[in-house]
Amino acid sequence: MEYIRDIHQQAAQQGKPVVSIEFFPPKTPGGEKALFERTIPESMKLAPDYCSVTYGAGGSTRDQTLRIVREIQDRHRLTCMSHLTCVNATREQLRAYLNEADQAGVRNILALRGDPPAGTSEFQAVQGGFEYSYQLVELVRSFDRFSIGVAGFPEGHIACRAGKQADWDHLKSKVDAGAEFVLTQLFFDNRDFLDFRDYIRDRAQLDIPVFPGVLPILSGRQIKRFTELCGASIPPSMARRLDELGDDDAAVSEYGIEFATRQCRELLDEEVPGLHFYCLNKIRSTSRVIEALGLKPR
Ligand SMILES: Cc1cc2nc3c(=O)[nH]c(=O)nc-3n(C[C@H](O)[C@H](O)[C@H](O)COP(=O)(O)OP(=O)(O)OC[C@H]3O[C@@H](n4cnc5c(N)ncnc54)[C@H](O)[C@@H]3O)c2cc1C
Repeated sequence: MEYIRDIHQQAAQQGKPVVSIEFFPPKTPGGEKALFERTIPESMKLAPDYCSVTYGAGGSTRDQTLRIVREIQDRHRLTCMSHLTCVNATREQLRAYLNEADQAGVRNILALRGDPPAGTSEFQAVQGGFEYSYQLVELVRSFDRFSIGVAGFPEGHIACRAGKQADWDHLKSKVDAGAEFVLTQLFFDNRDFLDFRDYIRDRAQLDIPVFPGVLPILSGRQIKRFTELCGASIPPSMARRLDELGDDDAAVSEYGIEFATRQCRELLDEEVPGLHFYCLNKIRSTSRVIEALGLKPR
């Protein structure tokens, strides 16, 4: 499978945006059946450049993440990146995961710290584990076998009390450790993304491509919960519209498609190198956005 850094380079040479889609490991056998039988085959029709699979809190989806990544690569011949977090893991456990991923043909890792486990508010490194994602980046880099992505936060990371610029400055340690690209947290005001991107490039002088994370909204209740958890904000006009639409998820999804299409068009006009879609294992809305942008192959 390809290194994502090579996918980026080829797309930049061809002047094409890189399109990637993120999945999460389902919690139930029914969810897994739907992922394998519907969501992933439908996603393949969009010909994404690569996809990624999240890593559950505290390593709860460790085996599932790797199994899904492997299945996508082996069955669909699509490059797939494994997310990996430091939560509840020692250096040796992380090393073991990376060895297994390497043997399974995984070439790309999104190196994350992870959120504090449920019931705790502050992240605590375990004895022999890591405190920050840059330490995981260093470990992944030491294998010399993977292309490495990291997370970025256009509105600043929720736990960074010193403000968003202090958080953005912390990206330097990830880049110095070997990160090759940034995927951002979801956001709804493109100004937040553009300020972040410009700061990284012009003020912090980091030479690293930054890919916006785009979430076509599927439900009002769900997006309020997500944004509370990750610290992203809902613009007032969006909050009003979501209030009007209430629990009518079909109408909210239509609004989400329109909003995300407009958002992506503006981002592409600003020459972002690509778009990373949080499809939430329901590909219909993402598919409609990609189609409306003219990025779906005929
Ligand atoms: C695209 C994307 C995918 C994600 N996928 C997952 C997933 O699969 N599983 C999951 O559990 N979570 C996932 N997350 C969430 C992520 O794990 C959390 O947001 C987590 O709290 C922060 O991770 P990080 O890698 O940015 O951590 P870090 O880079 O370690 O940052 C954490 C905090 O420490 C600060 N910090 C960083 N470096 C330093 C330093 N050198 N010195 C002092 N302070 C520092 C930062 O400002 C920040 O406040 C994802 C997030 C994004 C954007």
